[in-house]
Amino acid sequence: MNVAVLSIGDELLGGRITDTNAAFLSREIVANGGCVLERATVADDRLAIGEAVARLSSGADVLMSTGGLGPTNDDLTRWAAADLIDGGEVIDDDEALADARAWCAAAGLPASEAREMVAKRPQSASFLSNDQGTAPGLRFQLGGCEVWMLPGPPIEMQSMFERHVAPALRSGIGNTALPVEVLAAGLTEVQAADLLGSRLDRRCRPQLGIRAGRGLVRVTVQDPDGTCTQTALLNSAKEVRSVLEPWSLPDGCNSLPEAVGAALRHAEATCATAESCSGGGLGAALTEVSGSSGWYVGGWVTYSNEMKAAQLGVPVGLLDPGGPGTVSSEVVEAMATGARERSAADIAVSISGVAGPDGGTAEKPVGTAWIGLSDERGTAARRIRAPGDRQRVRAATIEAALQWIRWRLCGVDGGLPWECTT
Ligand code: ATP
Ligand code: MG
Repeated sequence: MNVAVLSIGDELLGGRITDTNAAFLSREIVANGGCVLERATVADDRLAIGEAVARLSSGADVLMSTGGLGPTNDDLTRWAAADLIDGGEVIDDDEALADARAWCAAAGLPASEAREMVAKRPQSASFLSNDQGTAPGLRFQLGGCEVWMLPGPPIEMQSMFERHVAPALRSGIGNTALPVEVLAAGLTEVQAADLLGSRLDRRCRPQLGIRAGRGLVRVTVQDPDGTCTQTALLNSAKEVRSVLEPWSLPDGCNSLPEAVGAALRHAEATCATAESCSGGGLGAALTEVSGSSGWYVGGWVTYSNEMKAAQLGVPVGLLDPGGPGTVSSEVVEAMATGARERSAADIAVSISGVAGPDGGTAEKPVGTAWIGLSDERGTAARRIRAPGDRQRVRAATIEAALQWIRWRLCGVDGGLPWECTT
C-alpha cells in the first residue's frame, strides 16, 4: 500500500518547528506494512493545501496530512478539503458542535463562533474523534485515494493515528509481512556488514537494510515487493541475530540497558553503580528501563576525591598526588568493591575518566576512562580511550560499562567499545 504524507504549516516551512509528525507517520506506516511514496510540506494556504492534496492523492492509495485543523483563521485544511470534495461548502456536525459547547462549558469559557469552528466539516467527510484536544480529524475518499487529515499537535495526532488510522491501515494491507528489526551493540556498522556479507545484497529476499547510530547497529529485515511471508522475515531475523552474536541484543530488547536488565533478570542478580566522570549517567541509563527496580539497587556519584574516600572507602593513598590518581585501575577497582560491599548488590560497576576538554595529560589524555567491575568472582578494571567531545566521551564510558556488565553475565566477551588492550 502506497502512502503519501503531507505536513501543513508556515512554521514548518520557516524552520521554526521541526516536522516530527512526518517522521512519526513514516515510521508507523512502514511498521504497519505500508510504503511511504512521498513526503511534502505546504504553507497555511487554502489553495496550496488543495493542490498538494490533489497531486499527492492521484498517485497514492492513502494520504495522511497533519496540521491546520484548529479553530483559528490560519487553520485552512478543512476549507481546502471542502474545495476538493464539496465545492467549498462545510456543514455543522451536530455531535461535534455539542462536544465543542460542552468543552467550553466545562472549561468555563463562553461559546464563540471561533471555538465552534472545529465542528465544521465538508459534508462528504467524516470526523475522527480527538481524545487529546478539541479539533477532530477528517476522513474522506478522493478518487482512488483514502485521505486522513489529522491535527498538528503531536500528542493529538499520534493518539488519533493509533485509534483510527492504524487499524484501518492494517486491515487494508491484509497479509503484507511486517518488517522486523535486529539490534546489536558494541560493534561498528562495518564490522556488522562484514559478518553479514552477501546477505546484505539488495536483491536478496527478505531484504536486509543496515544503519548505525547512538551506539546501536540496526538491521531491518523487510519485504520490499510483497514476495515474502512473515515467517520468512522472522526466520531471517533469527539468522541475522545469530550471525551478529555475541553483539546482537535478545529479541524484544530495544536498547543496551534493556539487554543488561534482561541479563541481570536471567541471572537473578542485582547491580550497583559508582560513577565519577559520567555523573550518574550510567544509573540514569539503567533506570530508563521499566522494571529496573527489580535488578538495579542504586549508586553513588562521587565526583571529588573526598567523596570517593568517604562514601566508597577508596584508600586515600590511591588518590594522593603520589598515588596512581583518580583515573586509574586501582581507584575504579576500589570504587567497585566499595559499592558492592556497601550496596550488597551482586555486581558493582564503576567509572572514572578524563571527559575533557581540560584535564588531559600525556599519560592520561582526554577520552581516557577506567571502568571497574566487582562481583563474586573478583574485581577487575579495563581502560578505554574514547574520541570526541565531553558529551561523547561520557556516553562512551557509559556504553562500555553497560557492555561489560552484559559480557560478564552472559559469559562471553566481545570487547568494550574504544577499549585499549595494550
Ligand atoms: P490546533 O488546534 O492546535 O491549532 P492544528 O491542527 O490547527 O491544531 P497547527 O495549527 O497546524 O495544528 O499546529 C499546532 C501546533 O502543532 C504547532 O504550533 C506545532 O507546535 C505542532 N505541529 C504542527 N505540525 C507539526 C509537525 N508537522 N510536526 C511537529 N509538530 C507540529
Ligand atoms: Mg492551528
